[in-house]
Amino acid sequence: MAQHQGLAVAEPRSPSTSSAAQSRVRSPADDDWRCCLCGSNRFSPVYEWEVGHRRNPAVIPLGVWECECGLAFLHPVPKEDQLPSQGEWWSSGRPDIRRRRGFKRFREAFQRTLFGNPKERFVKYTRKAKDGGRLLDVGCGTGALMNLMAPYYECEGLEPSPVGAEEARRKGFTIIEATLEEAEIPPQRYDVATLQSVIEHLHDPVGMLKKLNRMLKPSGVVALKTPKYRGMSCRRHGREWNGFRLGYHTFLFTGAVLGRALEAAGFEVLESPRRDRPLDDILILWGRKVRAVSSAP
Ligand SMILES: [Zn+2]
Repeated sequence: MAQHQGLAVAEPRSPSTSSAAQSRVRSPADDDWRCCLCGSNRFSPVYEWEVGHRRNPAVIPLGVWECECGLAFLHPVPKEDQLPSQGEWWSSGRPDIRRRRGFKRFREAFQRTLFGNPKERFVKYTRKAKDGGRLLDVGCGTGALMNLMAPYYECEGLEPSPVGAEEARRKGFTIIEATLEEAEIPPQRYDVATLQSVIEHLHDPVGMLKKLNRMLKPSGVVALKTPKYRGMSCRRHGREWNGFRLGYHTFLFTGAVLGRALEAAGFEVLESPRRDRPLDDILILWGRKVRAVSSAP
């Protein structure tokens, strides 16, 4: 069993009673699941949430598991009809569970004082990795990030929501209305790809990083922003961590694991910029394409 550094591991479950058997979360081993990063089938349970738990919006029990390589993932992934509609993801009306804001506000103010505005910093650091050229914002929503990037890059967006895509088009951007999985994009079209709050929703993150590799020119840069698994907030809140966003977040990464995923997809993790800032529960890594990967599975 893998080491669990600081997170409580789910109690071993008893298979002896029928009610326990019925409520038992389906394990990856039940489904012959293999890790998309290392190929292993040895996983440990991290947490599970029964049906009716306030964090579990699905009609089935859900679990987060960790591969021996450190990649954390949701299993089982509920089907669309096993989850309530979440609405447009960028909407402020999204039904999140709000926790007490005091500590978060204090931390954000402290970070702004020390490190500046996070959105502007993301633009600045991305320019440091690759300044200029054609940029694809994957999961662009209504185009907020492209607005900030537009002075420096020729921006295009990828957005599956017709409402978001239309709004971004009204701002003057070219939008491909598709998911990253569906999108048919010519090879070596882009210099930069940005993914904010996207990789944790994918069903094959390593495969999709390889797809991004093929879409990028040689030395192209990918910028990934995602909740930091085992970061400060994750450790503090444990099973109640918002980053689990149960039912919707399929994979969660530590910095080391995300770096290995980038390397597996033909990128090198850039030493500078590397990580957004300390004292945060958001992980940002920039990777540069250093080798081409084949389209074979
Ligand atoms: Zn693995």
